[in-house]
Amino acid sequence: MADPATPTTILVGESLKARNDRQAQLNRDLFGARGLVVLNLLSSPGSGKTALLERTLGELGPRRRIGVIVGDLQTDNDARRLSGRGAPVVQITTGVVCHLEADMVARACAGLDLGALDLLAIENVGNLVCPASFDLGEEVRVVVLSTTEGEDKPLKYPRAFKTAQVVILSKTDLAGAAGFDREGTMANIRAVAPQAIVFELSARTGNGMAGWYAFLEELIESHCVRRDRSPMGQHFAI
Ligand code: MG
Ligand code: ZN
Repeated sequence: MADPATPTTILVGESLKARNDRQAQLNRDLFGARGLVVLNLLSSPGSGKTALLERTLGELGPRRRIGVIVGDLQTDNDARRLSGRGAPVVQITTGVVCHLEADMVARACAGLDLGALDLLAIENVGNLVCPASFDLGEEVRVVVLSTTEGEDKPLKYPRAFKTAQVVILSKTDLAGAAGFDREGTMANIRAVAPQAIVFELSARTGNGMAGWYAFLEELIESHCVRRDRSPMGQHFAI
């Protein structure tokens, strides 16, 4: 029997979170067994997640097998943009849910041949608030911050930045026009997310993309070693 004194909404919230964490762990186990590198990309709307993935698919795609899961509230515009690049792309349309959850990712994975991939990039719903609280089972959380946004974003959305392994400063080609405060932004990132590796790049001009690719390739290489050694990975080894 429910205790009438217990605030039910909080209990529901906690159980949702616990259920998400359980599913996230199952996802992580699955990805780990396949030696798959999985990224979860977070940002505000319009920071350039899709453009970053487009360019990455175009330039890293010929060398590495990349799959993409795209979350959006509505439309499959981003998925259509990305599927023109020859990689498998699965769209999750969340409707009213403003973030991805681990079970949505698990269902989307059923539409992908994970064993045929080196890297799975999950483009989260554009929102820096609740996506930060939902573990998807990713290995690397990437927060994208563009030079056209305020330098105080890391201070305003600390959870996203604190939980990120990578911060990407995007649209560096627009820094001058936007009056971008690089020093202030870097100081804020360092203050909130000292653990994060920072890449500064422009997906439009290609500047700085090489460092991002080198990072991804190194991750993929380290997983190939693990994949070749694990009995389950053998089955999926190239
Ligand atoms: Mg997008
Ligand atoms: Zn949400």
